[in-house]
Amino acid sequence: MLHEAAERLVNCVRDTDEVTTAESGSLEGSMVARLGGDEFIVLLRDLLQPRDAVVVAQRIINGLSTPFIIEGHELVVTASLGIAMYPTDGDNVEDLVKAADSAMYAAKSNGRNTFQFYSKEMNSAAYEKLSLETKLRQAIDNGQLILHYQPKVDIRSGAMFGMEALVRWQHPQWGLIAPSRFIPLAEELGLIVQLGDRVLEMSCQQMQLWREAGLGEVCISVNLASPSFLKPSLTPEIAALIQKHGLQPQQLIIEATESMLIQSGSAAMNNLQALQALGVQLSIDDFGTGYSSLTYLRRFPVNELKIDQSFVAEMTHNTDDAAIVAAIVSLGRNMNRRIVAEGVETIGQARALRNQDCHLMQGFLFSRPVPADEMTRMLSLPYPFAWAAEESVSIEISH
Ligand code: C2E
Ligand code: MG
Ligand code: MG
Repeated sequence: MLHEAAERLVNCVRDTDEVTTAESGSLEGSMVARLGGDEFIVLLRDLLQPRDAVVVAQRIINGLSTPFIIEGHELVVTASLGIAMYPTDGDNVEDLVKAADSAMYAAKSNGRNTFQFYSKEMNSAAYEKLSLETKLRQAIDNGQLILHYQPKVDIRSGAMFGMEALVRWQHPQWGLIAPSRFIPLAEELGLIVQLGDRVLEMSCQQMQLWREAGLGEVCISVNLASPSFLKPSLTPEIAALIQKHGLQPQQLIIEATESMLIQSGSAAMNNLQALQALGVQLSIDDFGTGYSSLTYLRRFPVNELKIDQSFVAEMTHNTDDAAIVAAIVSLGRNMNRRIVAEGVETIGQARALRNQDCHLMQGFLFSRPVPADEMTRMLSLPYPFAWAAEESVSIEISH
């Protein structure tokens, strides 16, 4: 795994397109070294500007995001990168390494799979240079937003119960950008409604393609932000999309977060009720992290609750989290709502959830969010996650 990772790192450094260097015009003299454990140091020489470090950083993040196949096992890793610049962040090896290390920890706490500069000025300057703003506007129009799909798995049978569409920004130079990096910006810039419209359209198109390919009437969950729900035309537009693509309204599941319902609840109510009348399903995302108001559960036409991944992550070693998960599952069951556990990463979590009678699960244990063609392959299998279902059967026997 380390060998393979090192090889990928070397390739990322070797590829000098889009990187401008001072003298040689190449990254010659740059190097990759393993510091120990899972830490590597990449030395880039002769960079003209900090932005070039960003190009390489993005390339490394992308390069490492493809799963590793080691002895038949698929291993997925994330990378956190810290960037220190000579001589501003240190004029000797020790200081530079220290600065890069502390920047790396900042990157880690920012949610992994990302990079950070050591100096704050450089951080904001670099991102400014990247001019995300203008690029984001263009991205929405010229098809740079793409969807990845993550299956929702029925643990009893190993079948797929629909999937969640998760947006990514496929930038020609910077590679694949995670939604956490541009959704807040889209909100700030008032682009989030447009973005939501694009995601809805792409999802509906995809459902049509899969039906036409004989893969059935697949359910897709789409995340929408508050401003979308406040738009009076939302429901008629969704109705038009469903008709245009020949879909069953139930195939579309709209995910809203609890905080969205609380912030814009009554204003959004018209749309929520109209969507329900249309037959579209509604799901509450990240349940448990907002106010978890039971009144809202009663008032809003909700079909599904998604237990936030923070509870799932801790449930096998924290009894409070386990109790919260159990409470949400039984509440949902008694209210006849579908319950989905998010962020399931280990078989232990899947077992614990199954014992609590939670049927649907989503998480890296089963699959990362994958591009449409990979999802097509998964859809062509009747029970793509039979291994997990078998696992649960064998546990029953051993008890
Ligand atoms: P979310 O809707 O709660 O989506 C689940 C997130 O958890 C996804 O991150 C997914 O990749 C990640 N995830 C899934 N399984 C696991 C796991 O086992 N472990 C861990 N650690 N993470 C897991 P992603 O794709 O980066 O999306 C992040 C958030 O961005 C989403 O959270 C959603 O709030 C937002 N988002 C994504 N796509 C859209 C979109 O089209 N529109 C809007 N408005 N927001 C979106
Ligand atoms: Mg979601
Ligand atoms: Mg969620």
